[in-house]
Amino acid sequence: MTQPPELRPRTRLVHGGTVRSPFGEMSEALFLTQGFAYPSAEAAEARFVGEDPGFVYARYGNPTVRMFEERIALLEDAEDAFAAASGMAAIHAAIMCQVAAGDHVVASRALFGSCLYIIETLLPRFGVQATLVDGPDLDAWRAAMRPETKLCFIESPANPTLELIDIAAVARIAHEAGARLIVDNVFATPMFQRPLALGADIVVYSATKHIDGQGRCLGGVVLGTRRFIRDELEPYMKHTGAALSPFNAWVLLKGLETLELRCRAQAEGAARIAEALAGSPALARLIYPGREDHPQAALARRQMSSGGTMLALELRGGKAAAFRFMNALRIALISNNLGDAKTIVTHPATTTHQRLSPEQRAALGISDGLVRVSVGLEDPEDLIADLARGLEAARNGD
Ligand SMILES: *Cc1c(COP(=O)(O)O)cnc(C)c1O
Repeated sequence: MTQPPELRPRTRLVHGGTVRSPFGEMSEALFLTQGFAYPSAEAAEARFVGEDPGFVYARYGNPTVRMFEERIALLEDAEDAFAAASGMAAIHAAIMCQVAAGDHVVASRALFGSCLYIIETLLPRFGVQATLVDGPDLDAWRAAMRPETKLCFIESPANPTLELIDIAAVARIAHEAGARLIVDNVFATPMFQRPLALGADIVVYSATKHIDGQGRCLGGVVLGTRRFIRDELEPYMKHTGAALSPFNAWVLLKGLETLELRCRAQAEGAARIAEALAGSPALARLIYPGREDHPQAALARRQMSSGGTMLALELRGGKAAAFRFMNALRIALISNNLGDAKTIVTHPATTTHQRLSPEQRAALGISDGLVRVSVGLEDPEDLIADLARGLEAARNGD
């Protein structure tokens, strides 16, 4: 690592991992190159046998991608990191590189849809059995563990209900059974929740979300011990080709510089919006992990340093009311992304979670009136006025 670890997070986000070329450029260089020329045949041989640590091919690694990996690893106090072309490429590799036929995986049921596909549909095709449990139910985790359980996988807060899972407790249960815990930390962001410090073995991110934070490019990253990253993940990534493009790595590297400022401003906005809208007669429920009325407020305080940038609103009047609410908004945009500078509203039942049966959605707490809100960087007062306009329209039924 190129920065001393005692630096505080904001400083690490600005300077961590920077390697300057002989030109001394101020902004991190974009090394838009597939390959690397060697000074001699001997040097090429030394690179390939690993005696020289330099770069070989952009599918294996690239200087701009490496700067991004080092910067986020420093932020999380992780020994190492490996970037991928998208969040799903990172999650797929983090799981697949360590399971084989006969293994067993336990995951929380409330997962991002594509993570659920990998665990529930893809793994069994290759002889890896999966058990899905109700994430907050620790007895269910204990009961699900088997001698062949290799991995546990969770997302907290979960999408879109913002339900929390006790990361430290699930890590203990996993470790007692000889399994590892992977945490998808996208909703909490690296600023507000530190799964490795809570006992998780591996953390995965869709960098597409808050790390880019301005809606530009896809990316993903896996963090863990140096041994896991280099001995297990790197060979899988190198040979299967989900490399992050150097251009996207450069965008994400610059995104990290402002990550703390953006997440803090967005979370402050989310908390103010929650305060202003709670109790609205149009709402059956407002869910925000930073509020005392969140069903797991004590756990939120224990494992998160902020309520985060996401809210969930459950409107009275089901789908019709949710649609009236969304269609009346003038600032917040209707989309399915999150973590963006622009505030986004999503109706999970008809978009991100429409693939599930009504029974599955009900089991996950995704009602037809539920709207997910990703709070952006706009002035919170403008957002409160916009969302209040939506709630008014939802109530009026026009
Ligand atoms: C978006 C997201 C992913 C997938 O990331 P991509 O970059 O879109 O591939 C995985 N998990 C969570 C929680 C997400 O929000």
